[in-house]
Amino acid sequence: MDTDTLTINGERLWHSLMTLAEIGATAKGGVKRLALTDLDKQGRDLVISWGREAGLHITIDKIGNVFMRRDGLNKTLPPIMSGSHIDTQPTGGKFDGNYGVLAALEVVRTLNEKNIQTQASIEVAIWTNEEGSRFVPVMMGSGVFCGAFTLEHAYAARDVEGKSVHDELERIGYIGDEQPGQHPVGAYFEAHIEQGPVLENAGKVIGVVPAVLGLSWYDCEVTGMEAHAGPTPMPLRKDALQAAIKIMQETVNIAHRYPPYGRGTVGFIENFPNSRNVIPGQVKFSVDLRNVSEVLLNKMHDEMLSFIEKLRKETGLEIKIKRVSHYPPCPFHPDCVAAVRQAASDLGYSTMDVVSGAGHDAIYVARLAASGMIFVPCKDGISHNEIEDAKPEHLEAGCNVLLHAILDRAQIASN
Ligand SMILES: [Zn+2]
Repeated sequence: MDTDTLTINGERLWHSLMTLAEIGATAKGGVKRLALTDLDKQGRDLVISWGREAGLHITIDKIGNVFMRRDGLNKTLPPIMSGSHIDTQPTGGKFDGNYGVLAALEVVRTLNEKNIQTQASIEVAIWTNEEGSRFVPVMMGSGVFCGAFTLEHAYAARDVEGKSVHDELERIGYIGDEQPGQHPVGAYFEAHIEQGPVLENAGKVIGVVPAVLGLSWYDCEVTGMEAHAGPTPMPLRKDALQAAIKIMQETVNIAHRYPPYGRGTVGFIENFPNSRNVIPGQVKFSVDLRNVSEVLLNKMHDEMLSFIEKLRKETGLEIKIKRVSHYPPCPFHPDCVAAVRQAASDLGYSTMDVVSGAGHDAIYVARLAASGMIFVPCKDGISHNEIEDAKPEHLEAGCNVLLHAILDRAQIASN
């Protein structure tokens, strides 16, 4: 058969998405399926049962990552892997993560149906606790798999009730035998809803993802002096909030100076004592800076520090800033990016390059193997929300691109 025109079954993909979304379905049309809960177990069990029906060989590792393999003809080749996560936020949607897992499964179902053999095996991956909502750190399963942190560190993480990852994994029966990372990966692709508004705004169907933005998180603290709002004349105040506002504004200004991928956000503010007629004595807030290269991110970092140094001198206030998290930008592998671009163009879909502003399992897997991502639009760019929505035809298109990108790397066996 002519594999160039091969397409997946969009209805089957949609039906699987809707069926999985019933597990943990919320009244507002979303999904609440937190990592390592009974619902997570039910979701895993369901997807694995679908994998078994498709004749896949199941392996589970010690952090609960699930790999479902369709054997290739050449056992010496490392498998071409694709997947994502099926845990959700407390007010999550039907598509974030779930789409990447079920799109990979749909690729395998299509190959089965059309009786197409590949040289390399193809594996569907479900990564444990990507969301990091119940247990920190986020992207836990792929992080352990890729050696970003240890299995022991992940096992020790506890939820707000004090339950540990280890105990909860054991309770739901998902501590496997395999040592995380002892699993070869030839290349990795992850299909995902964009979680941003860029594709929808531009009216494009497929996002080719060259990189994931790096980020630096800071805690900032400005200390002044509380005093009565009436008797204290303006020149004699030590108003912490007024200095904090300047830093908050500069956070956004810095991002504007590094387009198109510079991002600057202040999302958390605590004002003390937060009283109408008291000059604020202390303000604590977060700063989140992002960009696509480490060089640019470092420039943003330096500008923030020199701005604060200047402000210290001007105001005489105590200003502390501390970088509390740093993830370097993650460029995806040129071969995988090219495979996605080529597949989308062969299939006649409109495309554009979209950097990812959010974290994904693919970032960690990229440390071990050539990796790439495929984005499809989601309604109003909204995710981590029960109203998260995506169009069946876009999900189908992204899955078709995934199919051909995987086939490019797994090599179709001549028949
Ligand atoms: Zn996700």
